[in-house]
Amino acid sequence: MVEFTKHKSMELPRRVVVGHDALESVLDVVENVHLSGPYLIVADNTTKKVAGDKIADMLEDTGNDVDFVLIKEADMETVESVVARIREIKAHTVFGVGGGRPIDVAKCSSHRENVPFVSVPTAASHDGIASSIASIRIEGRNTSIETRSPTAVIADTKIIASAPYRLMASGCGDIIANYTAVKDWRLARMLRGESYSSYAAALSEMTATMLVENSEAIKPGLEEAAWIVVKALVSSSVAMSIAGSSRPASGAEHKFSHALDIIAPGKALHGEQCGVGTIMMMHLHGGDWRMIRQTLKNVGAPTNYKELGVSREDIIKALTMAHKIRPERYTILGDRGLTEDAAERLAEETMVI
Ligand SMILES: [Zn+2]
Repeated sequence: MVEFTKHKSMELPRRVVVGHDALESVLDVVENVHLSGPYLIVADNTTKKVAGDKIADMLEDTGNDVDFVLIKEADMETVESVVARIREIKAHTVFGVGGGRPIDVAKCSSHRENVPFVSVPTAASHDGIASSIASIRIEGRNTSIETRSPTAVIADTKIIASAPYRLMASGCGDIIANYTAVKDWRLARMLRGESYSSYAAALSEMTATMLVENSEAIKPGLEEAAWIVVKALVSSSVAMSIAGSSRPASGAEHKFSHALDIIAPGKALHGEQCGVGTIMMMHLHGGDWRMIRQTLKNVGAPTNYKELGVSREDIIKALTMAHKIRPERYTILGDRGLTEDAAERLAEETMVI
């Protein structure tokens, strides 16, 4: 008999509040998970007004000290400056209030100082809102850093629904990426013996399926749409926590997106690029890539290079270099990637301009 040696450890958020006026529950959450001040709120100029000030008022009304750090970038320098602030005011809890950057910075700096972190997303643009992975710019490149899951997540759908709609459509692209990410993970399990969690994979796929089934309801200005998308992003984060890595939500389509970040920086959003990447990688997997494209169309997310705001050459270049991004993560692109001819064909077959 083979000796049993499996061992697993996972960390999940302890409290997740999603919905209308969720922001009102800040004090309940703080009490419920035994958080204490002094509090440091990481935000940017916009998100401070949208949600940060209100959180500060609620915490101050109960006699707590609250301080703000307003950030512009999510780079290592900013993380260092927030770490210094945490030490200076001896913060016991850090809030990250924002779409992406403030959450990434708060996640990373609180982890460094070992203080609890509360994630308050003001937009639903990517699945980092409840995950342990922070995206930080190091030497000009977005780098994924493994930190810890937020202690609590407070996602107010009223606030998220009033953020620019493009962000939410982008979030849908990040969720639909789960399909090809899981297919790549299965491939890595079969060909490379990589450890695999069927529970995490099933949750990740189910999350994408729920998005597909509800895609017609995802429209600008609808709080119900924010509800569907945020729940899916949280659920993708949970799948990553269960897996202990971003595997269930990040495969070849993410490699393609990261390659495009290098080739055509700042043109499209992360989730938008991942969505287009998913169409193409699904075709390589022999799966239903038309369904992916239709879903992205339904939610109003880009489905081709023109809508991404990049050139056809950029797409071909990104496709041929994608396998070099994070090469240890095995995907449908294999170790040698796509030839230029294959990339041309793939773009030709999947993109209708
Ligand atoms: Zn992503």
